[in-house]
Amino acid sequence: MRYAIFSDIHSNLQAFEAVLEAYSEERIDKYFCVGDIVGYAANPIECLELARKLNSVVVAGNHDFASVDLTGIEYFNPVAKQAVLWTKRILNEDWKDFLKRLPLVFEDKDFSLVHGTLEDPEKFDYLTNEFVAKGTFDLIKNNLLFVGHTHVPGIFIEEVSYISYSQAGKIKLTSDKRYIVNAGSVGQPRDGNPKASYCIFDTDTQLLEMKRINYDIEEAQKRILDAGLPAYLAQRLLVGR
Ligand code: ZN
Repeated sequence: MRYAIFSDIHSNLQAFEAVLEAYSEERIDKYFCVGDIVGYAANPIECLELARKLNSVVVAGNHDFASVDLTGIEYFNPVAKQAVLWTKRILNEDWKDFLKRLPLVFEDKDFSLVHGTLEDPEKFDYLTNEFVAKGTFDLIKNNLLFVGHTHVPGIFIEEVSYISYSQAGKIKLTSDKRYIVNAGSVGQPRDGNPKASYCIFDTDTQLLEMKRINYDIEEAQKRILDAGLPAYLAQRLLVGR
């Protein structure tokens, strides 16, 4: 099976379409989204429609839950807060129901998904270092977990009890190790590379690929500004921060 795994679309339709176009040439069997379909950019409904059309498995992100009052926005920065409030006004009740029903964790025989960490999925903590990774490795039921939330693609690898970090674009998984893979962000990368981030995992070859693709950033920026969202949300797309 060839799986597509992506995260943090954040209502950026241009980035999402570019990633789906790239996936269309990859013989994908099933799609998985690690959370935050909405928030920040200007096309939440179009992004939700695409995710549903793909029949993708989706877990909840903090912006998804904040948009339906399932998580508070007191810890959100002012710009993120503004985007959440804007998104709440745009979403109809059907889409709010869809978001409310998203699970925090998905577990399968091949891999699991969680937006933040497995320790407290509902707190949406950031899995940013080996120490936090250890807490989540202790709770994984299989050898592979995909996370999102930081918008920085990368792979934590546990071998015996030693954890290392890799930003390799391609890695062959082996059964003596366990892996936490951050899929990066489709719609708002923050690793200094503005290209949309996405993953492919092939269960036959055990090959994991971390990929990037250009998209129409100018159009996404225009839509953010036209929607009356904060200009900073448009500016940051160009620098990938
Ligand atoms: Zn996010």
